[in-house]
Amino acid sequence: MAQKRKLKKGIKKTLIFFRLILLVLFLSGFFYYGLDKYKKHSISNINRDVVKKLDYKVDLSMLVNYEHKIPKDYDLRLRNVEGNKEVATILYNDLNRMITLAKYEDGVELKINSAYRPNNIQKDIFDSYVKDYQKQGYSYSAAVQMTKISVAEPGYSEHETGLAIDFSESGNTVKNTKMWNWLAKNAYKYGFIKRYPNDKTNITKVKYEPWHYRYVGIELAKEIYDSNLTLEEYHEQNKK
Ligand SMILES: [Zn+2]
Repeated sequence: MAQKRKLKKGIKKTLIFFRLILLVLFLSGFFYYGLDKYKKHSISNINRDVVKKLDYKVDLSMLVNYEHKIPKDYDLRLRNVEGNKEVATILYNDLNRMITLAKYEDGVELKINSAYRPNNIQKDIFDSYVKDYQKQGYSYSAAVQMTKISVAEPGYSEHETGLAIDFSESGNTVKNTKMWNWLAKNAYKYGFIKRYPNDKTNITKVKYEPWHYRYVGIELAKEIYDSNLTLEEYHEQNKK
C-alpha cells in the first residue's frame, strides 16, 4: 500500500514537472513569436500617420519621360531622408518601411545614391554630358541625342519630382547586386517600380538602370509588376 502511494506520488511529481516544462515552452514561444509580430507591426506602421495628416494629392501614375515634361501644376513637397537626400513627402512612409524591412527581414541595406534633384542640378549634369561628347568630336545635336540615353533633359527627369530614387553605393559591386536583386523582387510591395528594365530600353528610350526606382503607389506598382509593363506601356494601354 505504502509503496503504491509512493509510486502515485512519484507519477504526480513527474506530471507536474512535465506540465511546468510545457508551460515554459509555451510561454517562451508565445513571447518570441508575439514579440516578433509586434516588432513587424510597429515597423510597418512607422510614421504612417504623417502622410494621412497631409492634405496633399499627387497623380502617382504621372508619366515623366523624354516626351512628357513635369506638369506645371505638380505639387512638389519634399522631406529629408538619410544621407541628406530629399524625396517627395508622399513616398516617405513607404520608403522608410522598405528600407527598414529589407534590413530587418533580409539583411539587405538599401542605400540612396540620388533622390530629388532640383532643375538647375539636372541641367548641370545634362550639360556636362553634352560637353563631354562634344569634346570627343560629336556635333552639338549628336551630343544632345547621345546624352538623352542616359540623362534626362532638365524638366523631363523623374528626379525633379522627388518620386525617383537611385539605390546604390559607389564602388560596391557585391552590395549593389544584392540591393538590386532585392529591389527587383520586392520594391513593388512598397509602391516602387523598376523604371528602366533591360528588355524595355526601346520603349523607355533610357538605358538599363537597375538602380532607378520610381514611386507610383502600392496599388499601381503591383499592377505594373504583375503585368510586366513599363509606365509608358501602362499609359498606352489605359488610353484605349
Ligand atoms: Zn535615376
